[in-house]
Amino acid sequence: MASTLCYNSLNPSTASFSRTHFSIPVNKDFSLENSSSFHTYGRTRTRKQRKNVFVMHVKVKAAVAESTAPPSSSTQAEKKNLRVLVAGGGIGGLVFALAAKKKGFEVMVFEKDLSAVRGEGQYRGPIQIQSNALAALEAIDSDVADEVMRVGCITGDRINGLVDGVSGSWYVKFDTFTPAVERGLPVTRVISRMVLQGILARAVGEDIVMNASNVVSFVDDGNKVTVELENGQKYEGDLLVGADGIWSKVRTELFGQTEAVYSGYTCYTGIADFVPADIDSVGYRVFLGHKQYFVSSDVGAGKMQWYAFHKEAPGGVDEPNRKKERLLKIFKGWCDNAVDLIVATDEEAILRRDIYDKIPTFKWGKGRVTLLGDSVHAMQPNMGQGGCMAIEVFNIYLICSLVASFGLLLI
Ligand SMILES: Cc1cc2nc3c(=O)[nH]c(=O)nc-3n(C[C@H](O)[C@H](O)[C@H](O)COP(=O)(O)OP(=O)(O)OC[C@H]3O[C@@H](n4cnc5c(N)ncnc54)[C@H](O)[C@@H]3O)c2cc1C
Repeated sequence: MASTLCYNSLNPSTASFSRTHFSIPVNKDFSLENSSSFHTYGRTRTRKQRKNVFVMHVKVKAAVAESTAPPSSSTQAEKKNLRVLVAGGGIGGLVFALAAKKKGFEVMVFEKDLSAVRGEGQYRGPIQIQSNALAALEAIDSDVADEVMRVGCITGDRINGLVDGVSGSWYVKFDTFTPAVERGLPVTRVISRMVLQGILARAVGEDIVMNASNVVSFVDDGNKVTVELENGQKYEGDLLVGADGIWSKVRTELFGQTEAVYSGYTCYTGIADFVPADIDSVGYRVFLGHKQYFVSSDVGAGKMQWYAFHKEAPGGVDEPNRKKERLLKIFKGWCDNAVDLIVATDEEAILRRDIYDKIPTFKWGKGRVTLLGDSVHAMQPNMGQGGCMAIEVFNIYLICSLVASFGLLLI
């Protein structure tokens, strides 16, 4: 996970979720009776009410689409037999597969390496699943959402915010709890990626998620799409979803090479068995400095996670076993709350990666192939929303709804 700079103003899960995500498109098929549910804004919604809002939103979108394009002649039964292929078993691919399975589609997920998302394995660390994504997950599968919320750690019940990196004094404190609770949204959780991935993969089903399956190419002949794996195996489907991350092969095949944009920062991450003295009063903290910043967060079970960002050219490589030493130099003179965490972390639990994102694009798909998650809207970790957006309604429910309505994608 990563905390946000300007958290409240940027965080749609709390401040503006109901307004931006549940807005009612003007549509003659949408009755006033239905719209009354939207007026619960500001009051606490029950889970059932939240789910109804999602379902209604999707129905409205489908109705809008229906007025511009005729539905296919397929029967409902034929539509249900659609075979959906998913490249990538990260957060986005697995949640999409879960939603599609719940809709009654045949799904197959091809993941090149389930044990090591982006090759970083168990040290990839926790991720912040914010209220917007938890609400979407609840609408897709409430048991899965419950498990994530049960295992996840809540930081919003304590002080969170920005401090000066050297003195440790607070610049601003954020309330991430009340806005979510007031709107009846689940409160943001921090959860280990591997645990989250395990919960999702189990819910999708071992028979559906194919490990060691590297998608190298696909052919869309207009009637079906055929995926080819590195081992030469081929699979046919009605539709392919490229949920294969920021370096997406599917995106490159679909639209050609698009460069990822370097953020200017390299990022070291670590997890330490460490319980700070102020654990009961502070959830997460962003320590700010000149051309460098540091983020720490309680992740539960006596562990703290941290991110250390440093402005420098991309491609830097550390000497073996010298990451910790370098970090202690970079953050020399910073307050103990930051430095103690670096000191408490084992060298092998420190990872380094350069931070990239992609220029947003409105074109997400072509023919029978579409993109989802980082493959199309990779964003910097400061937002704490990349994974959340891969989960959220637009990516999941709308696509499923379009598939359900038309039998194929219209994007
Ligand atoms: C340091 C850091 C902190 C972050 N913190 C947060 C946070 O707190 N909250 C948040 O919401 N987001 C956070 N993000 C962003 C988040 O990690 C991503 O947005 C999210 O993982 C995107 O999910 P995805 O499924 O689209 O892609 P990925 O998670 O990258 O998954 C893609 C999957 O596809 C597989 N794959 C790739 N190519 C192929 C292929 N050819 N064939 C088969 N499989 C393939 C990969 O192995 C991988 O499993 C953070 C990111 C970073 C770097």
